[in-house]
Amino acid sequence: MHTILIDERWCKGCKLCTVNCPTRALHMAERFTKRGIHPPELAQNGRCNGCRLCELLCPDFAITVTEGVGVHL
Ligand code: SF4
Ligand code: SF4
Repeated sequence: MHTILIDERWCKGCKLCTVNCPTRALHMAERFTKRGIHPPELAQNGRCNGCRLCELLCPDFAITVTEGVGVHL
């Protein structure tokens, strides 16, 4: 099981990660970060396959794909 860690200090809410996720495992959260943007979050649909494309595409290095339980930095 994979999850994603979002560093909310860096995420700017550009959606590059969500629109390019090949399994539609990511969506933008309803809540706001301290920066006032909607961060991506993993949908609870078990679709994330750990491909790390979102991590590679994020222009702000705000995503880390890992295994186990996720936390928000
Ligand atoms: S690609 Fe990076 S900066 Fe853009 S929404 Fe995703 S995590 Fe945030
Ligand atoms: S690791 Fe791959 S499947 Fe998982 S959320 Fe990122 S892009 Fe989507």
